[in-house]
Amino acid sequence: MGYAEMHRRSIEDPQGFWGELAEELHWYKKWDTVLDDSKAPFYRWFVGGETNLCYNAVDRHALGARRGQAALIWESPEVGQSRTLTYFELYREVNRLAAAFQRLGVQKGDRVIIYMPMVPEAIFAMLACVRLGAVHSVVFGGFSIASLASRIDDAEPVLIVTADAGMRKGLPVHLKEIVDRALEAAEKPSVRHVLVLNRGLVPMEMQEGRDLDWAEQIKESGSTYVEPARVASTDPSYILYTSGTTGKPKGVVRDTGGYMVALHASMSQIYNCGDGDVYWSTSDIGWVVGHSYIVYGPLLKGVPTVVYEGRPDHPDPGVWWRVIEKYGVTHVFTAPTALRALRKFPEHWMQSADISSLKILFAAGEPLDAPTYEWARAALNVPVIDHYWQTESGWSMLTNPVGVEMLPVKAGSPTMPAFGHKLEVVDADGNPVPRGEKGFLVDHGPLPPGMLMTLWNDDERYLQSYWSHFKGKLLYMTGDYAIQDADGYFWMLGRADEVLNVSGHRLGTREIEEVISGHPAVAEAAVIGVRHELKGEGVLVVAVLKQHIAPADQDGVARSITSLVRESIGPIATPDAIHFVSMLPKTRSGKIMRRVIRAVYQGDNIGDLSTIEDDATVDMVREAIDVLKGDL
Ligand code: AMP
Repeated sequence: MGYAEMHRRSIEDPQGFWGELAEELHWYKKWDTVLDDSKAPFYRWFVGGETNLCYNAVDRHALGARRGQAALIWESPEVGQSRTLTYFELYREVNRLAAAFQRLGVQKGDRVIIYMPMVPEAIFAMLACVRLGAVHSVVFGGFSIASLASRIDDAEPVLIVTADAGMRKGLPVHLKEIVDRALEAAEKPSVRHVLVLNRGLVPMEMQEGRDLDWAEQIKESGSTYVEPARVASTDPSYILYTSGTTGKPKGVVRDTGGYMVALHASMSQIYNCGDGDVYWSTSDIGWVVGHSYIVYGPLLKGVPTVVYEGRPDHPDPGVWWRVIEKYGVTHVFTAPTALRALRKFPEHWMQSADISSLKILFAAGEPLDAPTYEWARAALNVPVIDHYWQTESGWSMLTNPVGVEMLPVKAGSPTMPAFGHKLEVVDADGNPVPRGEKGFLVDHGPLPPGMLMTLWNDDERYLQSYWSHFKGKLLYMTGDYAIQDADGYFWMLGRADEVLNVSGHRLGTREIEEVISGHPAVAEAAVIGVRHELKGEGVLVVAVLKQHIAPADQDGVARSITSLVRESIGPIATPDAIHFVSMLPKTRSGKIMRRVIRAVYQGDNIGDLSTIEDDATVDMVREAIDVLKGDL
């Protein structure tokens, strides 16, 4: 069956489609109903079913044929260490930690915050939580005290799991200290214990009675077996916070059964990954991609997963290619920002490693612009697949389903709707726009399994944020601006709230950025709508030039960028100002912080950077802003 037929079935017969896929996993009790949409848009999958995510991701393999096979491969250029665990070894570690959690009183439904660097123990902690039916909330190990405190207050965890420090470019990030200060700042006293992994990186203070040493606790556990909890398919497996328009982060709640089925299916249908393969998602467990494709997806499928602590260019720009060679990595999932970073370096870094094991590369998180796509395709000599995601979706919403059928790639498009997603481009009233026209990307219910159930403790905000944009129509608003072309391919044009309105014409930031990135002198570009007295909004271009461009040539480049935009899009998109900078302020997940650039340019108050939810090291952002301010 090809993509079109399979996709049609997933929409017309979701019960049959997902019900069959769910049979491939272990259920203590089978579901009564595949999909309950009686309380739409609160869709519930595999209602009545009982299962355990940890059992399916670990025990199923550890107690079966994959016992001695690699499960988790940890590589840390930051501390110069690596470690490989088989499924059985992973099983043993997770049991020990689950036993320790149990002794600390963690029960089904309790929340546990995991504020950890990229080390195997972080993954043991996630798995130990779901083994007990506890709900984890991983907070990216680069978030500030204030961000952590607001998550503590929202999730009300009984336990926080952390380490003395993470490492970033050879410098320690004092995680335990941040936890201490976040606990002082938090208003709700839910936390009873802090379990601390001492990596021996920095000294720390332990608070008597509250703080516990990881190694001691594991020792006390010995070789205990902890029975996996039988949880309802509709019980939450985790909360993952993402930025909202207001200061308060949104706690995306994931179910158990639906998520498990969707991820397991995606490993074959989307990633074409199975026995013999080695999967490497270069993300961080603090992001949704890390949850789904560093941890649960590969493990559910029984595939080894690479857990990487470090950056693409440290200690040198060859480090990623050497990891691929060392472990024979077959599948890489990364972000366009990393590809753009690597593209800046000479090719010999890549050529010095044998990356012939690589079969395919996936990218998500922001638009994969055509020039970066073309570079990666040629340099790696494997298919490069863009797919579109949100924290809310848990897995991709638009993709090229290569495991089912490799659709022809159109550079710059994340291709077609993933199974179960009925996507459409609509106008402000929620009516479909003709093919080729711009509009908002929406999803018709029922949302497929794996998508968010609601927002933590806030059903009302779930309805408000996602389902209330179009009067009288129940449509899930992605918040993105898009086009569907005549062949049915989707093209993402940027966040809807970043759409420019120039003299009454709507322009997606992405459209202009794509054109400018195609200019041979440009390494990266951001387009931002700024106040303009006559036009309402003006087009500001902030670009990073390739290293070899001399300052004296900048005026010429600016002029040719202007004509390129006028020719490719039209005079309406003519930039009002073009500035060249040495670095763009970005969040740690690689998204350009347009709001910050706009504020710097307009001379507005940048705001308290510690409340910018999506980012991590505020220092990095500050540094970029200083550079930007100096340059503009
Ligand atoms: P987050 O929830 O932080 O992962 O951000 C999700 C947003 O990132 C989406 O709503 C899009 O705006 C953007 N995004 C993710 N993947 C892609 C992609 N492949 N192409 C274009 N935009 C993307």
